[in-house]
This record gives sequence, structure tokens and C-alpha cells, in this order.
Amino acid sequence: MAPPPPSVLVLGGGVTGLNAARLLRRAGAAVTLLEAAERTGGAVVTYRDGDYTVEGGPNTLLCREAEIFDALHAVGLGDRIIPAAPAARNRYLLRDGRIRAAPLGPASLLTTPLLSWPAKLRVLREPFIRRAPSDTDESLAAFVRRRLGPEFLDYFINPFVGGVYAGDPEKLSVRHAFPRLHALEANHGSLIRGGLAFLFRKPAHPRDRGKRISFSFPGGLGDLVAALTNALTAANPASPPAQLKLRSRLTSLTRDSDHRWQAAWTSPVGNDQSGFDAVLCAVPAYAIPQLPLPVTLATALAPTGEIHYPPLTSLSLGFRREQVAHPLDGFGVLFAEIEKTFCLGCLFVSSLFPGRAPPGHVLLTTFAGGSRNPNAATLDDAALLDGVLGDLATYLGVKGRPAFHRFTRWPRAVPQYTVGYAETLAALDRAEAAHPGFFLGGHYRDGISLGQCLLAGGRLARRTAAHLGRPTPEDPPVQP
Ligand SMILES: Cc1cc2nc3c(=O)[nH]c(=O)nc-3n(C[C@H](O)[C@H](O)[C@H](O)COP(=O)(O)OP(=O)(O)OC[C@H]3O[C@@H](n4cnc5c(N)ncnc54)[C@H](O)[C@@H]3O)c2cc1C
Repeated sequence: MAPPPPSVLVLGGGVTGLNAARLLRRAGAAVTLLEAAERTGGAVVTYRDGDYTVEGGPNTLLCREAEIFDALHAVGLGDRIIPAAPAARNRYLLRDGRIRAAPLGPASLLTTPLLSWPAKLRVLREPFIRRAPSDTDESLAAFVRRRLGPEFLDYFINPFVGGVYAGDPEKLSVRHAFPRLHALEANHGSLIRGGLAFLFRKPAHPRDRGKRISFSFPGGLGDLVAALTNALTAANPASPPAQLKLRSRLTSLTRDSDHRWQAAWTSPVGNDQSGFDAVLCAVPAYAIPQLPLPVTLATALAPTGEIHYPPLTSLSLGFRREQVAHPLDGFGVLFAEIEKTFCLGCLFVSSLFPGRAPPGHVLLTTFAGGSRNPNAATLDDAALLDGVLGDLATYLGVKGRPAFHRFTRWPRAVPQYTVGYAETLAALDRAEAAHPGFFLGGHYRDGISLGQCLLAGGRLARRTAAHLGRPTPEDPPVQP
């Protein structure tokens, strides 16, 4: 008789946990996934409201890695990828109360009204600025001020960081939050020289695409969650069945004398328990201190409770086209803190992907809160709507009330990789090393973007498979 398949417990059914779980099942493991919420997807949530398709969390996937496209094909999304419209390369920024197109290349950087002439000359001095000592852990703000000058920080980097991390450049570590930027200085001594070399670089993997593409799917990013979930749970005689348990929480986890993990959990159908050969933890960092872990593991993972997640509220609004004066010919607009706006920025969602708003209407998604203005995220609906409408009227020429709106509130949105984050990451490494068969990953460790979380799931699956002595779980390679 064949030995039973190795068993793996996965905690958390966001994109990281789902991708790891379905790959491990593919590699022949019997997977049980516990998800605390009533749905999978975590930060990825798509609503269909009448003829509007609204993303409450991320709006686009931006990546070039062959591994991600292989995964999308493997879960049946290969021919459902919808690249963002070409106009998405236009981005807008705000200076002196006016929306301006962000420069698309070095020539337009010289002519942009977003920077004064002294600031442009300061940017041109960048290749001659000395690099920081290799052990420096500098804030993003200090790094940019040093290399590119304070105006570049205020009008380019500050709004960009608000859009990506909902974060504060004075607190984020350039080394940890923007490792590619940090590597340009470390490897080339200059961002401009490194940027030029970057343009002509070879992909990290020979099958990776030359350029990153920004895309979604016909039903939004919810299609990704549905496809990953289906790949995990669908009947497949070639793989052991997987158990997906929603609204379920771990109630105890111990390691027995055979080095197996004994887990108990509660779910809507009652209490259950089982033994596992490995445990893979893909919950947000702030959820880890609440897990009933063995004392040594809980102690080792205590620093996860210190990771800051600022609150953020996303407000999507539908308008009749004629209510909006701006041409909406781009990805969206990001607001610099120095401009004292209410929100962080606004995505022109219906300009990016087809079918997001009913005919004759547009869909805009705005973000309020973040590290910059956490109180804005927690205002009541009426006050938040008023604040957002004020910005839209002033900067995009929006008139009147929206035909549609939907709030998505994130009390803890995106983890902040702050200065000193190396200590947090080292604590995670130590915790894993001292507890063989327990693996951690996701947005607080592997990068915050959706693409990085898909890759994190793949890495977790490979590390778990290696621990179990199973073949490396991989999707069949697809040529782009
Ligand atoms: C508003 C917003 C906008 C974003 N925009 C973009 C974007 O445009 N592009 C982009 O690339 N990225 C974006 N991101 C980031 C990206 O969406 C996330 O980093 C990524 O989805 C995180 O995936 P994850 O699986 O690591 O974590 P999560 O999505 O947080 O999943 C963790 C899961 O664990 C579950 N869980 C929690 N506690 C427990 C427990 N005790 N037991 C079991 N399960 C538990 C949660 O319910 C959740 O389902 C955005 C994020 C937010 C919040």
C-alpha cells in the first residue's frame, strides 16, 4: 500500500496562502487551509454593483515574472488577462493646486512644471552624489533628499509612496520598502546611471518578460481569487483532496514527540483536530500574536505585533461622464502631502479596463487615510464622502453628487517596512530555523504587491516541499 500523502496545514487564504496551498496540493500534499473570514482572497475583493465592477483592495497586478504567468495559465486565467489601456502610462501629479502630467522620460523631466529649475539642476547632480556606506539603513525621505533633492521628494516620491504604501517616506526604509531603488545606488553608485543600466538589463530569469505589464481580468481581480480557490478545491484524481475551511480559526497548535504538528480548530460545523507534517502561516503580521502557538514560537514571533499597518479607506464613485471635466486619460492622479488634499489620490478605473462602469458613466476610486492622515480613513461615511468630493471638484472638475458609491474600509491596510525592519525580518528567520516544519510568508515579509505575494506563495510551497522531501511544486511553463 502507498504511504499516505504528507499533510500540510495552511493558515490564511489570501493570495499568498492560496497560491502556496494549490501548489502543494499539485505536488501531492494533503492540504487543509483555515481561513478566518467567510471568503478567500484577503486584501483582494471585487464587488459587482449593478453595472459597476469595483475593486475594494488592489486594482491591478503589475509584473513580468514568468512564474506568475505560468501560475495564471495553470489556474485557467491565461487567456483572460486584460492589460491596462495604453493611456494608463499617463500619470498625473499635483503642484500648486494644478494637476500636471508626470514626466514620461528624461526629456520631459527637464520641461515639467512639477519641478523648479533649481530642483531640476539638483536632479542632474545626482550621478555625482557619493553613495551611502553599505550598512546604512536610511529612510526613503533621507535617501531621496540626499540624492535628488527636497523638491523631488515632495512632488514625486511623497505622492508615489502615498499611492503604493499609504505610507510616510520619513519612516519607510529605502533598503526594505524599495529594494530596487536601494540596489541602484549600491550597485551603480547613482540612480540615473543605474536606471540607464536597468533599461538594458537582462531579465532575472530568461523566461521573464522584458517589461512589467499592468493587468486585471474581465471580472476584476476577484477572478484571480476564484481561480486560485477553484484550483485548490476542484476534484482532481491526480491530487489528494484539499480541505478549505472558511470562518475557521486555530484553537491550538503543538509539536508532538514525532515532530508532527498537532492542530485543533473551530469552524461553523464544530471543532476538529488533526496532525500535520508542516504548517504554513500566511496570515497578516498583526494576526500572528493572536494565534495559539507553542510558547517558544509565539515568543520568537512577538515582533510581528509591532509592524505598523495604517488604516485606509477606499471610496469608489460612479459619475455620468459629463459630470467630470478632466479627460481621465491616464492611470490616475496622486496628491503630494505638501498640497494638503483630503485624499491620497484617485484611480481612473473605467479608463483602465473595459466594463467597469455602465455606458455613459465613469468609475473613479479614491483612497483616504494612510500614515499621512489616518483620521481621514475612520471618518463616518458622510464626512468621508464630502472630503473626497471636495478634492474631486477642485482638481478634476467633478460636478454634483455621484450616481453610485461604495466604501471599503481597511482598519489595517498595508504593512510599513520601516527603518530597522532588518531586525523584524531576522526574528522571522530565527523563528523558522528554531521550529522546523513551520513556515511564514506574505505581504509583511516578501513585498507588498500582489505579484510579490503570488511569488511568496510559490516560495513557501517550494520550501515546504523540500522539508517534506517532495518534488518541487511547479506549474507547466508557458511561453508569453
Ligand atoms: C486597499 C489596498 C490596495 C492595494 N492595492 C494594490 C495594487 O493595486 N496592486 C498590488 O499589487 N497590491 C496592492 N495591494 C497589496 C496587496 O493586495 C496585498 O499585499 C496582498 O493581497 C496581500 O496578500 P496576502 O495573502 O499576503 O495577505 P492577505 O490578503 O491579508 O491575506 C491574509 C488572509 O489571512 C486571513 N486571516 C487572518 N487571520 C487569520 C487567522 N487567525 N486564521 C486564519 N486566517 C486568518 C485573512 O482573513 C486573509 O484572508 C493593496 C492592498 C490594499 C489593502
